[in-house]
Amino acid sequence: MQYREFGKTGVKVSPIGFGMMRLPSDNEGNVNEAEAIRIVREAIDNGLNYVDTAFNYHGGNSEKITGKALLDGYRDKVYLATKAPVWMFKGPEDFDSILEKQLSRLQTDHIDMYLLHSLNAISFEKKVLRYGVLDKIKAARDAGKIKYIGFSFHDKLDVFKKICDSFDWDFCQIQLNYIDTKYQAGLEGLKYAADKGLAVSIMEPLRGGYLANVPDAVQKVFDGTGKSAVEWGLDYLWNRPEVSVVLSGMGSEEQIKQNIEFASRSHAGMFSPEDEKVIEKAQEIFASYDTIPCTGCSYCLPCPKGVGIPYNFVVYNNYQTNNNYEQEKERYKNWVTMFGKQASECVSCRTCESICPQHIKISDELKKVAETFSK
Ligand code: SF4
Ligand code: SF4
Repeated sequence: MQYREFGKTGVKVSPIGFGMMRLPSDNEGNVNEAEAIRIVREAIDNGLNYVDTAFNYHGGNSEKITGKALLDGYRDKVYLATKAPVWMFKGPEDFDSILEKQLSRLQTDHIDMYLLHSLNAISFEKKVLRYGVLDKIKAARDAGKIKYIGFSFHDKLDVFKKICDSFDWDFCQIQLNYIDTKYQAGLEGLKYAADKGLAVSIMEPLRGGYLANVPDAVQKVFDGTGKSAVEWGLDYLWNRPEVSVVLSGMGSEEQIKQNIEFASRSHAGMFSPEDEKVIEKAQEIFASYDTIPCTGCSYCLPCPKGVGIPYNFVVYNNYQTNNNYEQEKERYKNWVTMFGKQASECVSCRTCESICPQHIKISDELKKVAETFSK
């Protein structure tokens, strides 16, 4: 494994990090804890040294499982990242009480990389600045409870730059993949942060799996290149010197083996001009589809009416890319309902919309989905 610089910190991280947001789970969302612990340790045994969780992942279970996975000597082998749910703060004291809870869940005396989670213009102004969170986070660092300070981000590029400029951050975490190059922070944000000396960790490298199982037309572009769709997606990011670590939510031993193998042969500047053309062709095809930019993060769940929001979007997006109406209508009827109710059950209360990091107008899009499959 070749390790990469983590900004100006002097830390070296594996190109692939373990994202603890999508752990192996059953249809009801219950995590298979033993399996999750086993695969995290397997990844660490094979050279991965960055594990990324958050206060809210899997309803709080992710931090607890991460803590268990890092027992038996594994804690010292990794850089541990977790995130403060700033949108939950109701006053300045919440920062400390939540951090203490996280340390306890994670069974550790310090967190290596601590992020303010999912910052946007509103949460930065109304939570971070109003409650003096930047002073709090510095005090936590001085007390040795955290080592490096960062933020994850979901808003427009100008907001990203403003937040980058407002504090001496060690790192940031942005959504980036080869179809989201101008979305949120995007490629320009990546360069902006790196130029300021921030390490950049990447989330949604495969857009919640969308770039792993690509439509046939895109697969044809990759066929014959000797690389899978996943490898193209990850290599696109590792090719960039500004990227420190790419987070992957690995759910099986097979995925881990594959991703670690890809990471081991990755390096900045690995793309030839021909490789760039392959990606450009794939980008052109994706740009021709009218899909909903849902990453399947499930932050919007549970819906008070039980609508299985991301599952409805999956079948709609599949239909946009494979044009197989009968197949996707069947999945709308029989697959979506395994996880929640169909789009037609949405009552447009919009309570889910403020939390969506992709800023999707969920109720409007669900109307579109319901209409599409009502024929
Ligand atoms: S807008 Fe629709 S999907 Fe969202 S919470 Fe309300 S009923 Fe559920
Ligand atoms: S609609 Fe938004 S919050 Fe819900 S799963 Fe998709 S991206 Fe996540």
